[in-house]
Amino acid sequence: MLITNIKELFGIHLESSLLKGKEMATLPSLEKAYVRIEGEHIIGFGSMTELKTRDGEAMIDAGGCLVMPAWCDSHTHLVFAGSREEEFVDKLKGRSYAEIAARGGGIQNSARRLQDTSEEALYEAARQRLDEIARTGTGAVEIKSGYGLSTAGELKMLRVIKRLRNNSRLTIKSTFLGAHALPERQRGDKQAYLREIIEEMLPVIAREGLADYIDVFCEKGFFDLDDTRQILRAGRRCGLKAKLHANQLHNFGAVQVGIEEGALSVDHLENISEAEIECLKKSNTIPTLLPTAAFFLRLPFPPARQMIDSGLGIALATDYNPGSSPSGNIPLLLAMSCIQMRLLPEEGINALTMNGACAMEVESELGSIAVGKKANLIISKPVPDLAYLPYRFGDNWINKVMIGGEII
Ligand SMILES: [Zn+2]
Repeated sequence: MLITNIKELFGIHLESSLLKGKEMATLPSLEKAYVRIEGEHIIGFGSMTELKTRDGEAMIDAGGCLVMPAWCDSHTHLVFAGSREEEFVDKLKGRSYAEIAARGGGIQNSARRLQDTSEEALYEAARQRLDEIARTGTGAVEIKSGYGLSTAGELKMLRVIKRLRNNSRLTIKSTFLGAHALPERQRGDKQAYLREIIEEMLPVIAREGLADYIDVFCEKGFFDLDDTRQILRAGRRCGLKAKLHANQLHNFGAVQVGIEEGALSVDHLENISEAEIECLKKSNTIPTLLPTAAFFLRLPFPPARQMIDSGLGIALATDYNPGSSPSGNIPLLLAMSCIQMRLLPEEGINALTMNGACAMEVESELGSIAVGKKANLIISKPVPDLAYLPYRFGDNWINKVMIGGEII
């Protein structure tokens, strides 16, 4: 298969590693290019003037179009049961978080619904969401558990993720987020739930190979720093690397704990200061920002500009979930990141491709245009240039998406 007459081919990074600081503004490209694909992989690319076609090759003419690597969405909760638009309207009407919780809203709402939903129905709904995000250019996705809040519920979610991974063309990573909230039945006895996570859930997860990572919602009123350390360490003993929900609502040391525990990424970061940025600069932990969640909750956007200017490499992800970011649309997220956080288009795209790949450890096979990498590509409609993509926010500028060498 050959994609020809590409107006400009973007994302030709020579190395597959996290792009930091000023490097984030560079998205190497080639004008008037072609890409050759065999099976699932890119086997060559170059200038149209040097193209030698082979007999019997299928061709896609991408005249006037841009081609770039498909997105790597390193933070989602896209296995869930039912949407929560009633709660959304309650919030619009000014009802408080406590009132909404009393009316059965919040994570507990998703947990109750998940309990009543069969594994089959959960799988089918999530499979449709994967199709939906693939159409807007996502080729790799991390999915968390965390609406089970019981051994049976968490295992059900993780088994659904495993099945999606086995049956989807998308590259999928699985994260165990048992510590998402305290279940209703264990209100007032957090230690009992921590024991359930560590002594009941983790051994089964390790035995059945159900997760790649372990995550904690480290936040006031949820899981504190000590709980977080305890869970992440138990996860590590089972071979699970840490990821962490940190500094979304309060700044009380979650980022530092994530770094100390060797987290691959600390995610959210709406509330960080110079101190957290300095700690991140001395670490290998990837700061991952989730601007659509900040938008939906009307939180301040994370200080992305300050982070990049200080030399950090950031990743961007959707946080796709029914409560605080009911969208997996990355073209919209890209526009929002440029508009609200002043990212340059190149910085936004790098944060969603190479750096997103690093935040889910798939950078050796995804995240850039390189020979031997998986052919996960976005082909745009005819557009004037790269900056046009985030500039035309809300417009569907994607023409075709290729995942594993197949147009979907
Ligand atoms: Zn999240």
